[in-house]
Amino acid sequence: MIIMDIETVREQRLGIMGGTFDPVHYGHLVAAEGARYSFNLEKVFFIPTGHPPHKPDRIISEPWVRYKMTSLAVASNPFFCPSLIEVERPGLSYTIDTVRTMRYLHPGKRIYFITGADAILEIITWKDIDLLLSMCNFVAATRPGYCLNGLNEKLNSLPDSFKQNISYMEVPALAISSTDIRQRVREGRPIKYLLPESVEDYILKNNLYR
Ligand code: NAP
Repeated sequence: MIIMDIETVREQRLGIMGGTFDPVHYGHLVAAEGARYSFNLEKVFFIPTGHPPHKPDRIISEPWVRYKMTSLAVASNPFFCPSLIEVERPGLSYTIDTVRTMRYLHPGKRIYFITGADAILEIITWKDIDLLLSMCNFVAATRPGYCLNGLNEKLNSLPDSFKQNISYMEVPALAISSTDIRQRVREGRPIKYLLPESVEDYILKNNLYR
Protein backbone atom coordinates (compact mmCIF):
# COMPACT_ATOMS: atom_id res chain seq x y z
CA MET A 1 0.00 0.00 0.00
CA ILE A 2 1.33 3.47 -0.90
CA ILE A 3 0.96 5.98 1.90
CA MET A 4 1.30 9.65 0.89
CA ASP A 5 1.73 12.37 3.44
CA ILE A 6 -0.46 15.44 3.31
CA GLU A 7 2.27 17.60 1.70
CA THR A 8 2.58 15.15 -1.19
CA VAL A 9 -1.17 15.20 -1.76
CA ARG A 10 -1.19 18.99 -1.64
CA GLU A 11 1.44 19.19 -4.37
CA GLN A 12 -0.67 17.10 -6.70
CA ARG A 13 -3.98 18.93 -6.68
CA LEU A 14 -4.94 22.28 -8.17
CA GLY A 15 -8.25 24.08 -7.91
CA ILE A 16 -9.98 26.07 -10.61
CA MET A 17 -12.58 28.49 -9.37
CA GLY A 18 -14.77 29.02 -12.41
CA GLY A 19 -17.41 31.71 -12.57
CA THR A 20 -18.64 34.87 -14.22
CA PHE A 21 -17.58 36.90 -11.16
CA ASP A 22 -19.74 39.91 -12.05
CA PRO A 23 -18.70 40.88 -9.43
CA VAL A 24 -16.60 38.49 -7.35
CA HIS A 25 -17.66 38.57 -3.66
CA TYR A 26 -16.85 37.08 -0.27
CA GLY A 27 -19.05 34.02 -0.98
CA HIS A 28 -16.69 33.06 -3.82
CA LEU A 29 -13.60 33.69 -1.69
CA VAL A 30 -14.93 31.66 1.26
CA ALA A 31 -15.95 28.82 -1.09
CA ALA A 32 -12.48 28.73 -2.67
CA GLU A 33 -10.72 28.78 0.67
CA GLY A 34 -13.03 26.02 1.99
CA ALA A 35 -12.33 23.87 -1.06
CA ARG A 36 -8.59 24.52 -0.80
CA TYR A 37 -8.61 23.27 2.77
CA SER A 38 -11.05 20.35 2.32
CA PHE A 39 -9.47 18.95 -0.85
CA ASN A 40 -5.84 19.78 -0.01
CA LEU A 41 -5.37 22.01 -3.03
CA GLU A 42 -1.96 23.47 -3.62
CA LYS A 43 -3.38 26.57 -5.30
CA VAL A 44 -6.73 27.83 -6.53
CA PHE A 45 -6.81 29.60 -9.89
CA PHE A 46 -9.70 32.05 -10.24
CA ILE A 47 -10.74 31.93 -13.88
CA PRO A 48 -13.41 34.45 -14.88
CA THR A 49 -15.40 33.31 -17.90
CA GLY A 50 -14.51 34.99 -21.16
CA HIS A 51 -17.58 34.61 -23.37
CA PRO A 52 -19.97 32.14 -21.68
CA PRO A 53 -21.81 29.94 -24.19
CA HIS A 54 -24.95 29.74 -22.03
CA LYS A 55 -25.54 33.50 -21.67
CA PRO A 56 -25.73 34.84 -25.22
CA ASP A 57 -28.42 37.43 -24.38
CA ARG A 58 -27.43 38.44 -20.87
CA ILE A 59 -25.56 41.69 -20.45
CA ILE A 60 -22.45 41.04 -18.41
CA SER A 61 -19.44 43.25 -17.71
CA GLU A 62 -16.50 43.03 -20.10
CA PRO A 63 -14.19 40.06 -19.41
CA TRP A 64 -11.26 42.40 -18.59
CA VAL A 65 -13.36 44.27 -16.04
CA ARG A 66 -14.38 41.02 -14.32
CA TYR A 67 -10.76 39.84 -14.43
CA LYS A 68 -9.56 43.11 -12.86
CA MET A 69 -12.08 42.78 -9.99
CA THR A 70 -11.07 39.15 -9.48
CA SER A 71 -7.36 40.09 -9.35
CA LEU A 72 -8.05 42.73 -6.72
CA ALA A 73 -10.11 40.27 -4.67
CA VAL A 74 -7.52 37.47 -4.54
CA ALA A 75 -4.41 39.67 -4.16
CA SER A 76 -4.02 39.10 -0.41
CA ASN A 77 -4.17 35.27 -0.50
CA PRO A 78 -0.89 33.59 -1.56
CA PHE A 79 -2.80 30.40 -2.43
CA PHE A 80 -5.11 32.20 -4.87
CA CYS A 81 -4.13 33.23 -8.36
CA PRO A 82 -6.17 35.09 -11.02
CA SER A 83 -6.00 33.61 -14.48
CA LEU A 84 -6.57 35.12 -17.93
CA ILE A 85 -7.02 31.77 -19.65
CA GLU A 86 -10.66 32.32 -20.63
CA VAL A 87 -10.51 36.09 -20.97
CA GLU A 88 -7.73 35.86 -23.57
CA ARG A 89 -9.05 32.83 -25.45
CA PRO A 90 -11.06 33.84 -28.50
CA GLY A 91 -14.50 32.35 -29.04
CA LEU A 92 -16.89 30.88 -26.51
CA SER A 93 -15.53 29.77 -23.12
CA TYR A 94 -15.93 26.04 -22.68
CA THR A 95 -14.72 24.43 -19.47
CA ILE A 96 -13.28 21.46 -21.39
CA ASP A 97 -10.82 23.84 -23.15
CA THR A 98 -9.88 25.48 -19.85
CA VAL A 99 -9.22 22.15 -18.12
CA ARG A 100 -7.19 20.97 -21.11
CA THR A 101 -5.02 24.09 -20.94
CA MET A 102 -4.54 23.78 -17.17
CA ARG A 103 -3.53 20.12 -17.52
CA TYR A 104 -1.05 21.09 -20.22
CA LEU A 105 0.42 23.89 -18.07
CA HIS A 106 0.47 21.75 -14.89
CA PRO A 107 1.20 18.18 -15.97
CA GLY A 108 0.57 15.46 -13.40
CA LYS A 109 -1.74 17.59 -11.24
CA ARG A 110 -5.30 16.53 -10.49
CA ILE A 111 -7.72 19.38 -11.23
CA TYR A 112 -10.66 20.26 -8.97
CA PHE A 113 -13.16 22.52 -10.72
CA ILE A 114 -15.10 24.52 -8.13
CA THR A 115 -18.26 26.37 -9.05
CA GLY A 116 -21.85 27.04 -8.00
CA ALA A 117 -24.25 24.10 -7.63
CA ASP A 118 -26.73 25.82 -9.97
CA ALA A 119 -24.10 25.82 -12.69
CA ILE A 120 -23.34 22.13 -12.03
CA LEU A 121 -27.10 21.47 -12.35
CA GLU A 122 -26.68 22.00 -16.09
CA ILE A 123 -23.44 20.07 -16.36
CA ILE A 124 -24.83 17.32 -18.57
CA THR A 125 -25.37 19.96 -21.29
CA TRP A 126 -21.74 21.12 -21.20
CA LYS A 127 -19.45 20.49 -24.17
CA ASP A 128 -17.71 17.07 -24.13
CA ILE A 129 -19.04 16.35 -20.65
CA ASP A 130 -18.03 12.66 -20.57
CA LEU A 131 -14.46 13.56 -21.37
CA LEU A 132 -14.50 16.48 -18.94
CA LEU A 133 -15.77 14.32 -16.07
CA SER A 134 -12.99 11.85 -16.71
CA MET A 135 -10.39 14.63 -16.69
CA CYS A 136 -11.20 16.43 -13.43
CA ASN A 137 -13.19 16.49 -10.22
CA PHE A 138 -16.04 18.93 -9.61
CA VAL A 139 -16.92 20.71 -6.38
CA ALA A 140 -20.45 22.14 -6.32
CA ALA A 141 -20.70 24.98 -3.81
CA THR A 142 -24.20 25.34 -2.40
CA ARG A 143 -25.96 28.22 -0.70
CA PRO A 144 -27.49 27.61 2.78
CA GLY A 145 -30.74 25.64 2.50
CA TYR A 146 -29.96 24.49 -1.05
CA CYS A 147 -31.99 21.38 -1.87
CA LEU A 148 -29.80 18.72 -3.49
CA ASN A 149 -32.74 16.69 -4.89
CA GLY A 150 -32.80 18.52 -8.23
CA LEU A 151 -29.07 18.15 -8.68
CA ASN A 152 -29.08 14.45 -7.72
CA GLU A 153 -31.94 13.80 -10.14
CA LYS A 154 -30.09 15.50 -12.99
CA LEU A 155 -26.87 13.65 -12.23
CA ASN A 156 -28.64 10.27 -12.11
CA SER A 157 -28.19 9.84 -15.84
CA LEU A 158 -24.42 9.87 -15.40
CA PRO A 159 -22.40 6.67 -14.86
CA ASP A 160 -21.44 6.04 -11.20
CA SER A 161 -17.75 6.54 -11.96
CA PHE A 162 -18.48 10.12 -13.07
CA LYS A 163 -20.89 10.86 -10.21
CA GLN A 164 -18.10 9.96 -7.80
CA ASN A 165 -16.09 12.86 -9.24
CA ILE A 166 -18.67 15.42 -8.10
CA SER A 167 -18.66 16.63 -4.48
CA TYR A 168 -20.88 19.12 -2.67
CA MET A 169 -19.80 21.76 -0.22
CA GLU A 170 -22.21 23.97 1.70
CA VAL A 171 -20.91 27.52 1.96
CA PRO A 172 -22.93 29.74 4.31
CA ALA A 173 -21.21 32.86 2.90
CA LEU A 174 -22.85 32.10 -0.47
CA ALA A 175 -25.94 33.78 0.91
CA ILE A 176 -24.13 36.66 -0.84
CA SER A 177 -24.80 36.73 -4.58
CA SER A 178 -23.51 38.74 -7.53
CA THR A 179 -27.08 39.34 -8.71
CA ASP A 180 -27.98 40.90 -5.37
CA ILE A 181 -24.84 43.07 -5.38
CA ARG A 182 -25.60 44.40 -8.87
CA GLN A 183 -29.17 45.16 -7.81
CA ARG A 184 -27.98 46.95 -4.67
CA VAL A 185 -25.64 49.16 -6.71
CA ARG A 186 -28.46 49.98 -9.15
CA GLU A 187 -30.68 50.99 -6.25
CA GLY A 188 -27.95 52.89 -4.41
CA ARG A 189 -28.00 50.49 -1.45
CA PRO A 190 -24.77 49.56 0.39
CA ILE A 191 -22.53 46.71 -0.74
CA LYS A 192 -19.94 47.16 1.99
CA TYR A 193 -18.90 43.89 3.74
CA LEU A 194 -20.30 41.76 0.90
CA LEU A 195 -17.07 41.92 -1.10
CA PRO A 196 -13.49 43.16 -0.62
CA GLU A 197 -13.14 46.91 -0.27
CA SER A 198 -10.82 47.08 -3.28
CA VAL A 199 -13.56 45.56 -5.47
CA GLU A 200 -16.19 47.87 -4.00
CA ASP A 201 -13.96 50.88 -4.80
CA TYR A 202 -13.42 49.60 -8.35
CA ILE A 203 -17.18 49.23 -8.91
CA LEU A 204 -17.95 52.69 -7.61
CA LYS A 205 -15.06 54.42 -9.41
CA ASN A 206 -15.92 52.79 -12.72
CA ASN A 207 -19.63 53.34 -12.33
CA LEU A 208 -20.49 49.67 -12.88
CA TYR A 209 -24.03 48.27 -12.62
CA ARG A 210 -25.75 51.64 -12.70
P1 NAP B 1 -23.98 31.11 -13.37
O1 NAP B 1 -25.09 30.50 -14.17
O2 NAP B 1 -23.72 32.59 -13.55
O3 NAP B 1 -24.14 30.86 -11.83
C1 NAP B 1 -24.99 29.88 -11.34
C2 NAP B 1 -25.01 30.01 -9.83
O4 NAP B 1 -23.76 29.56 -9.30
C3 NAP B 1 -25.21 31.43 -9.33
O5 NAP B 1 -26.02 31.36 -8.20
C4 NAP B 1 -23.79 31.89 -9.01
O6 NAP B 1 -23.77 32.85 -7.95
C5 NAP B 1 -23.14 30.61 -8.54
N1 NAP B 1 -21.71 30.56 -8.84
C6 NAP B 1 -21.11 30.77 -10.04
N2 NAP B 1 -19.79 30.57 -9.95
C7 NAP B 1 -19.54 30.25 -8.65
C8 NAP B 1 -18.39 29.93 -7.93
N3 NAP B 1 -17.19 29.86 -8.55
N4 NAP B 1 -18.49 29.65 -6.62
C9 NAP B 1 -19.69 29.69 -5.99
N5 NAP B 1 -20.85 29.99 -6.62
C10 NAP B 1 -20.76 30.27 -7.93
O7 NAP B 1 -22.68 30.29 -13.67
P2 NAP B 1 -21.47 30.78 -14.46
O8 NAP B 1 -20.71 31.70 -13.57
O9 NAP B 1 -21.88 31.27 -15.80
O10 NAP B 1 -20.66 29.42 -14.73
C11 NAP B 1 -19.97 28.81 -13.71
C12 NAP B 1 -18.80 28.04 -14.32
O11 NAP B 1 -19.30 26.96 -15.11
C13 NAP B 1 -17.95 28.90 -15.24
O12 NAP B 1 -16.60 28.57 -15.07
C14 NAP B 1 -18.42 28.50 -16.62
O13 NAP B 1 -17.42 28.64 -17.64
C15 NAP B 1 -18.75 27.03 -16.42
N6 NAP B 1 -19.73 26.60 -17.45
C16 NAP B 1 -19.26 25.90 -18.50
C17 NAP B 1 -20.13 25.52 -19.51
C18 NAP B 1 -19.59 24.73 -20.69
O14 NAP B 1 -18.41 24.41 -20.70
N7 NAP B 1 -20.41 24.44 -21.66
C19 NAP B 1 -21.47 25.85 -19.44
C20 NAP B 1 -21.91 26.57 -18.32
C21 NAP B 1 -21.03 26.95 -17.32
P3 NAP B 1 -23.04 34.24 -8.18
O15 NAP B 1 -23.83 34.90 -9.29
O16 NAP B 1 -23.13 34.93 -6.88
O17 NAP B 1 -21.65 33.90 -8.63
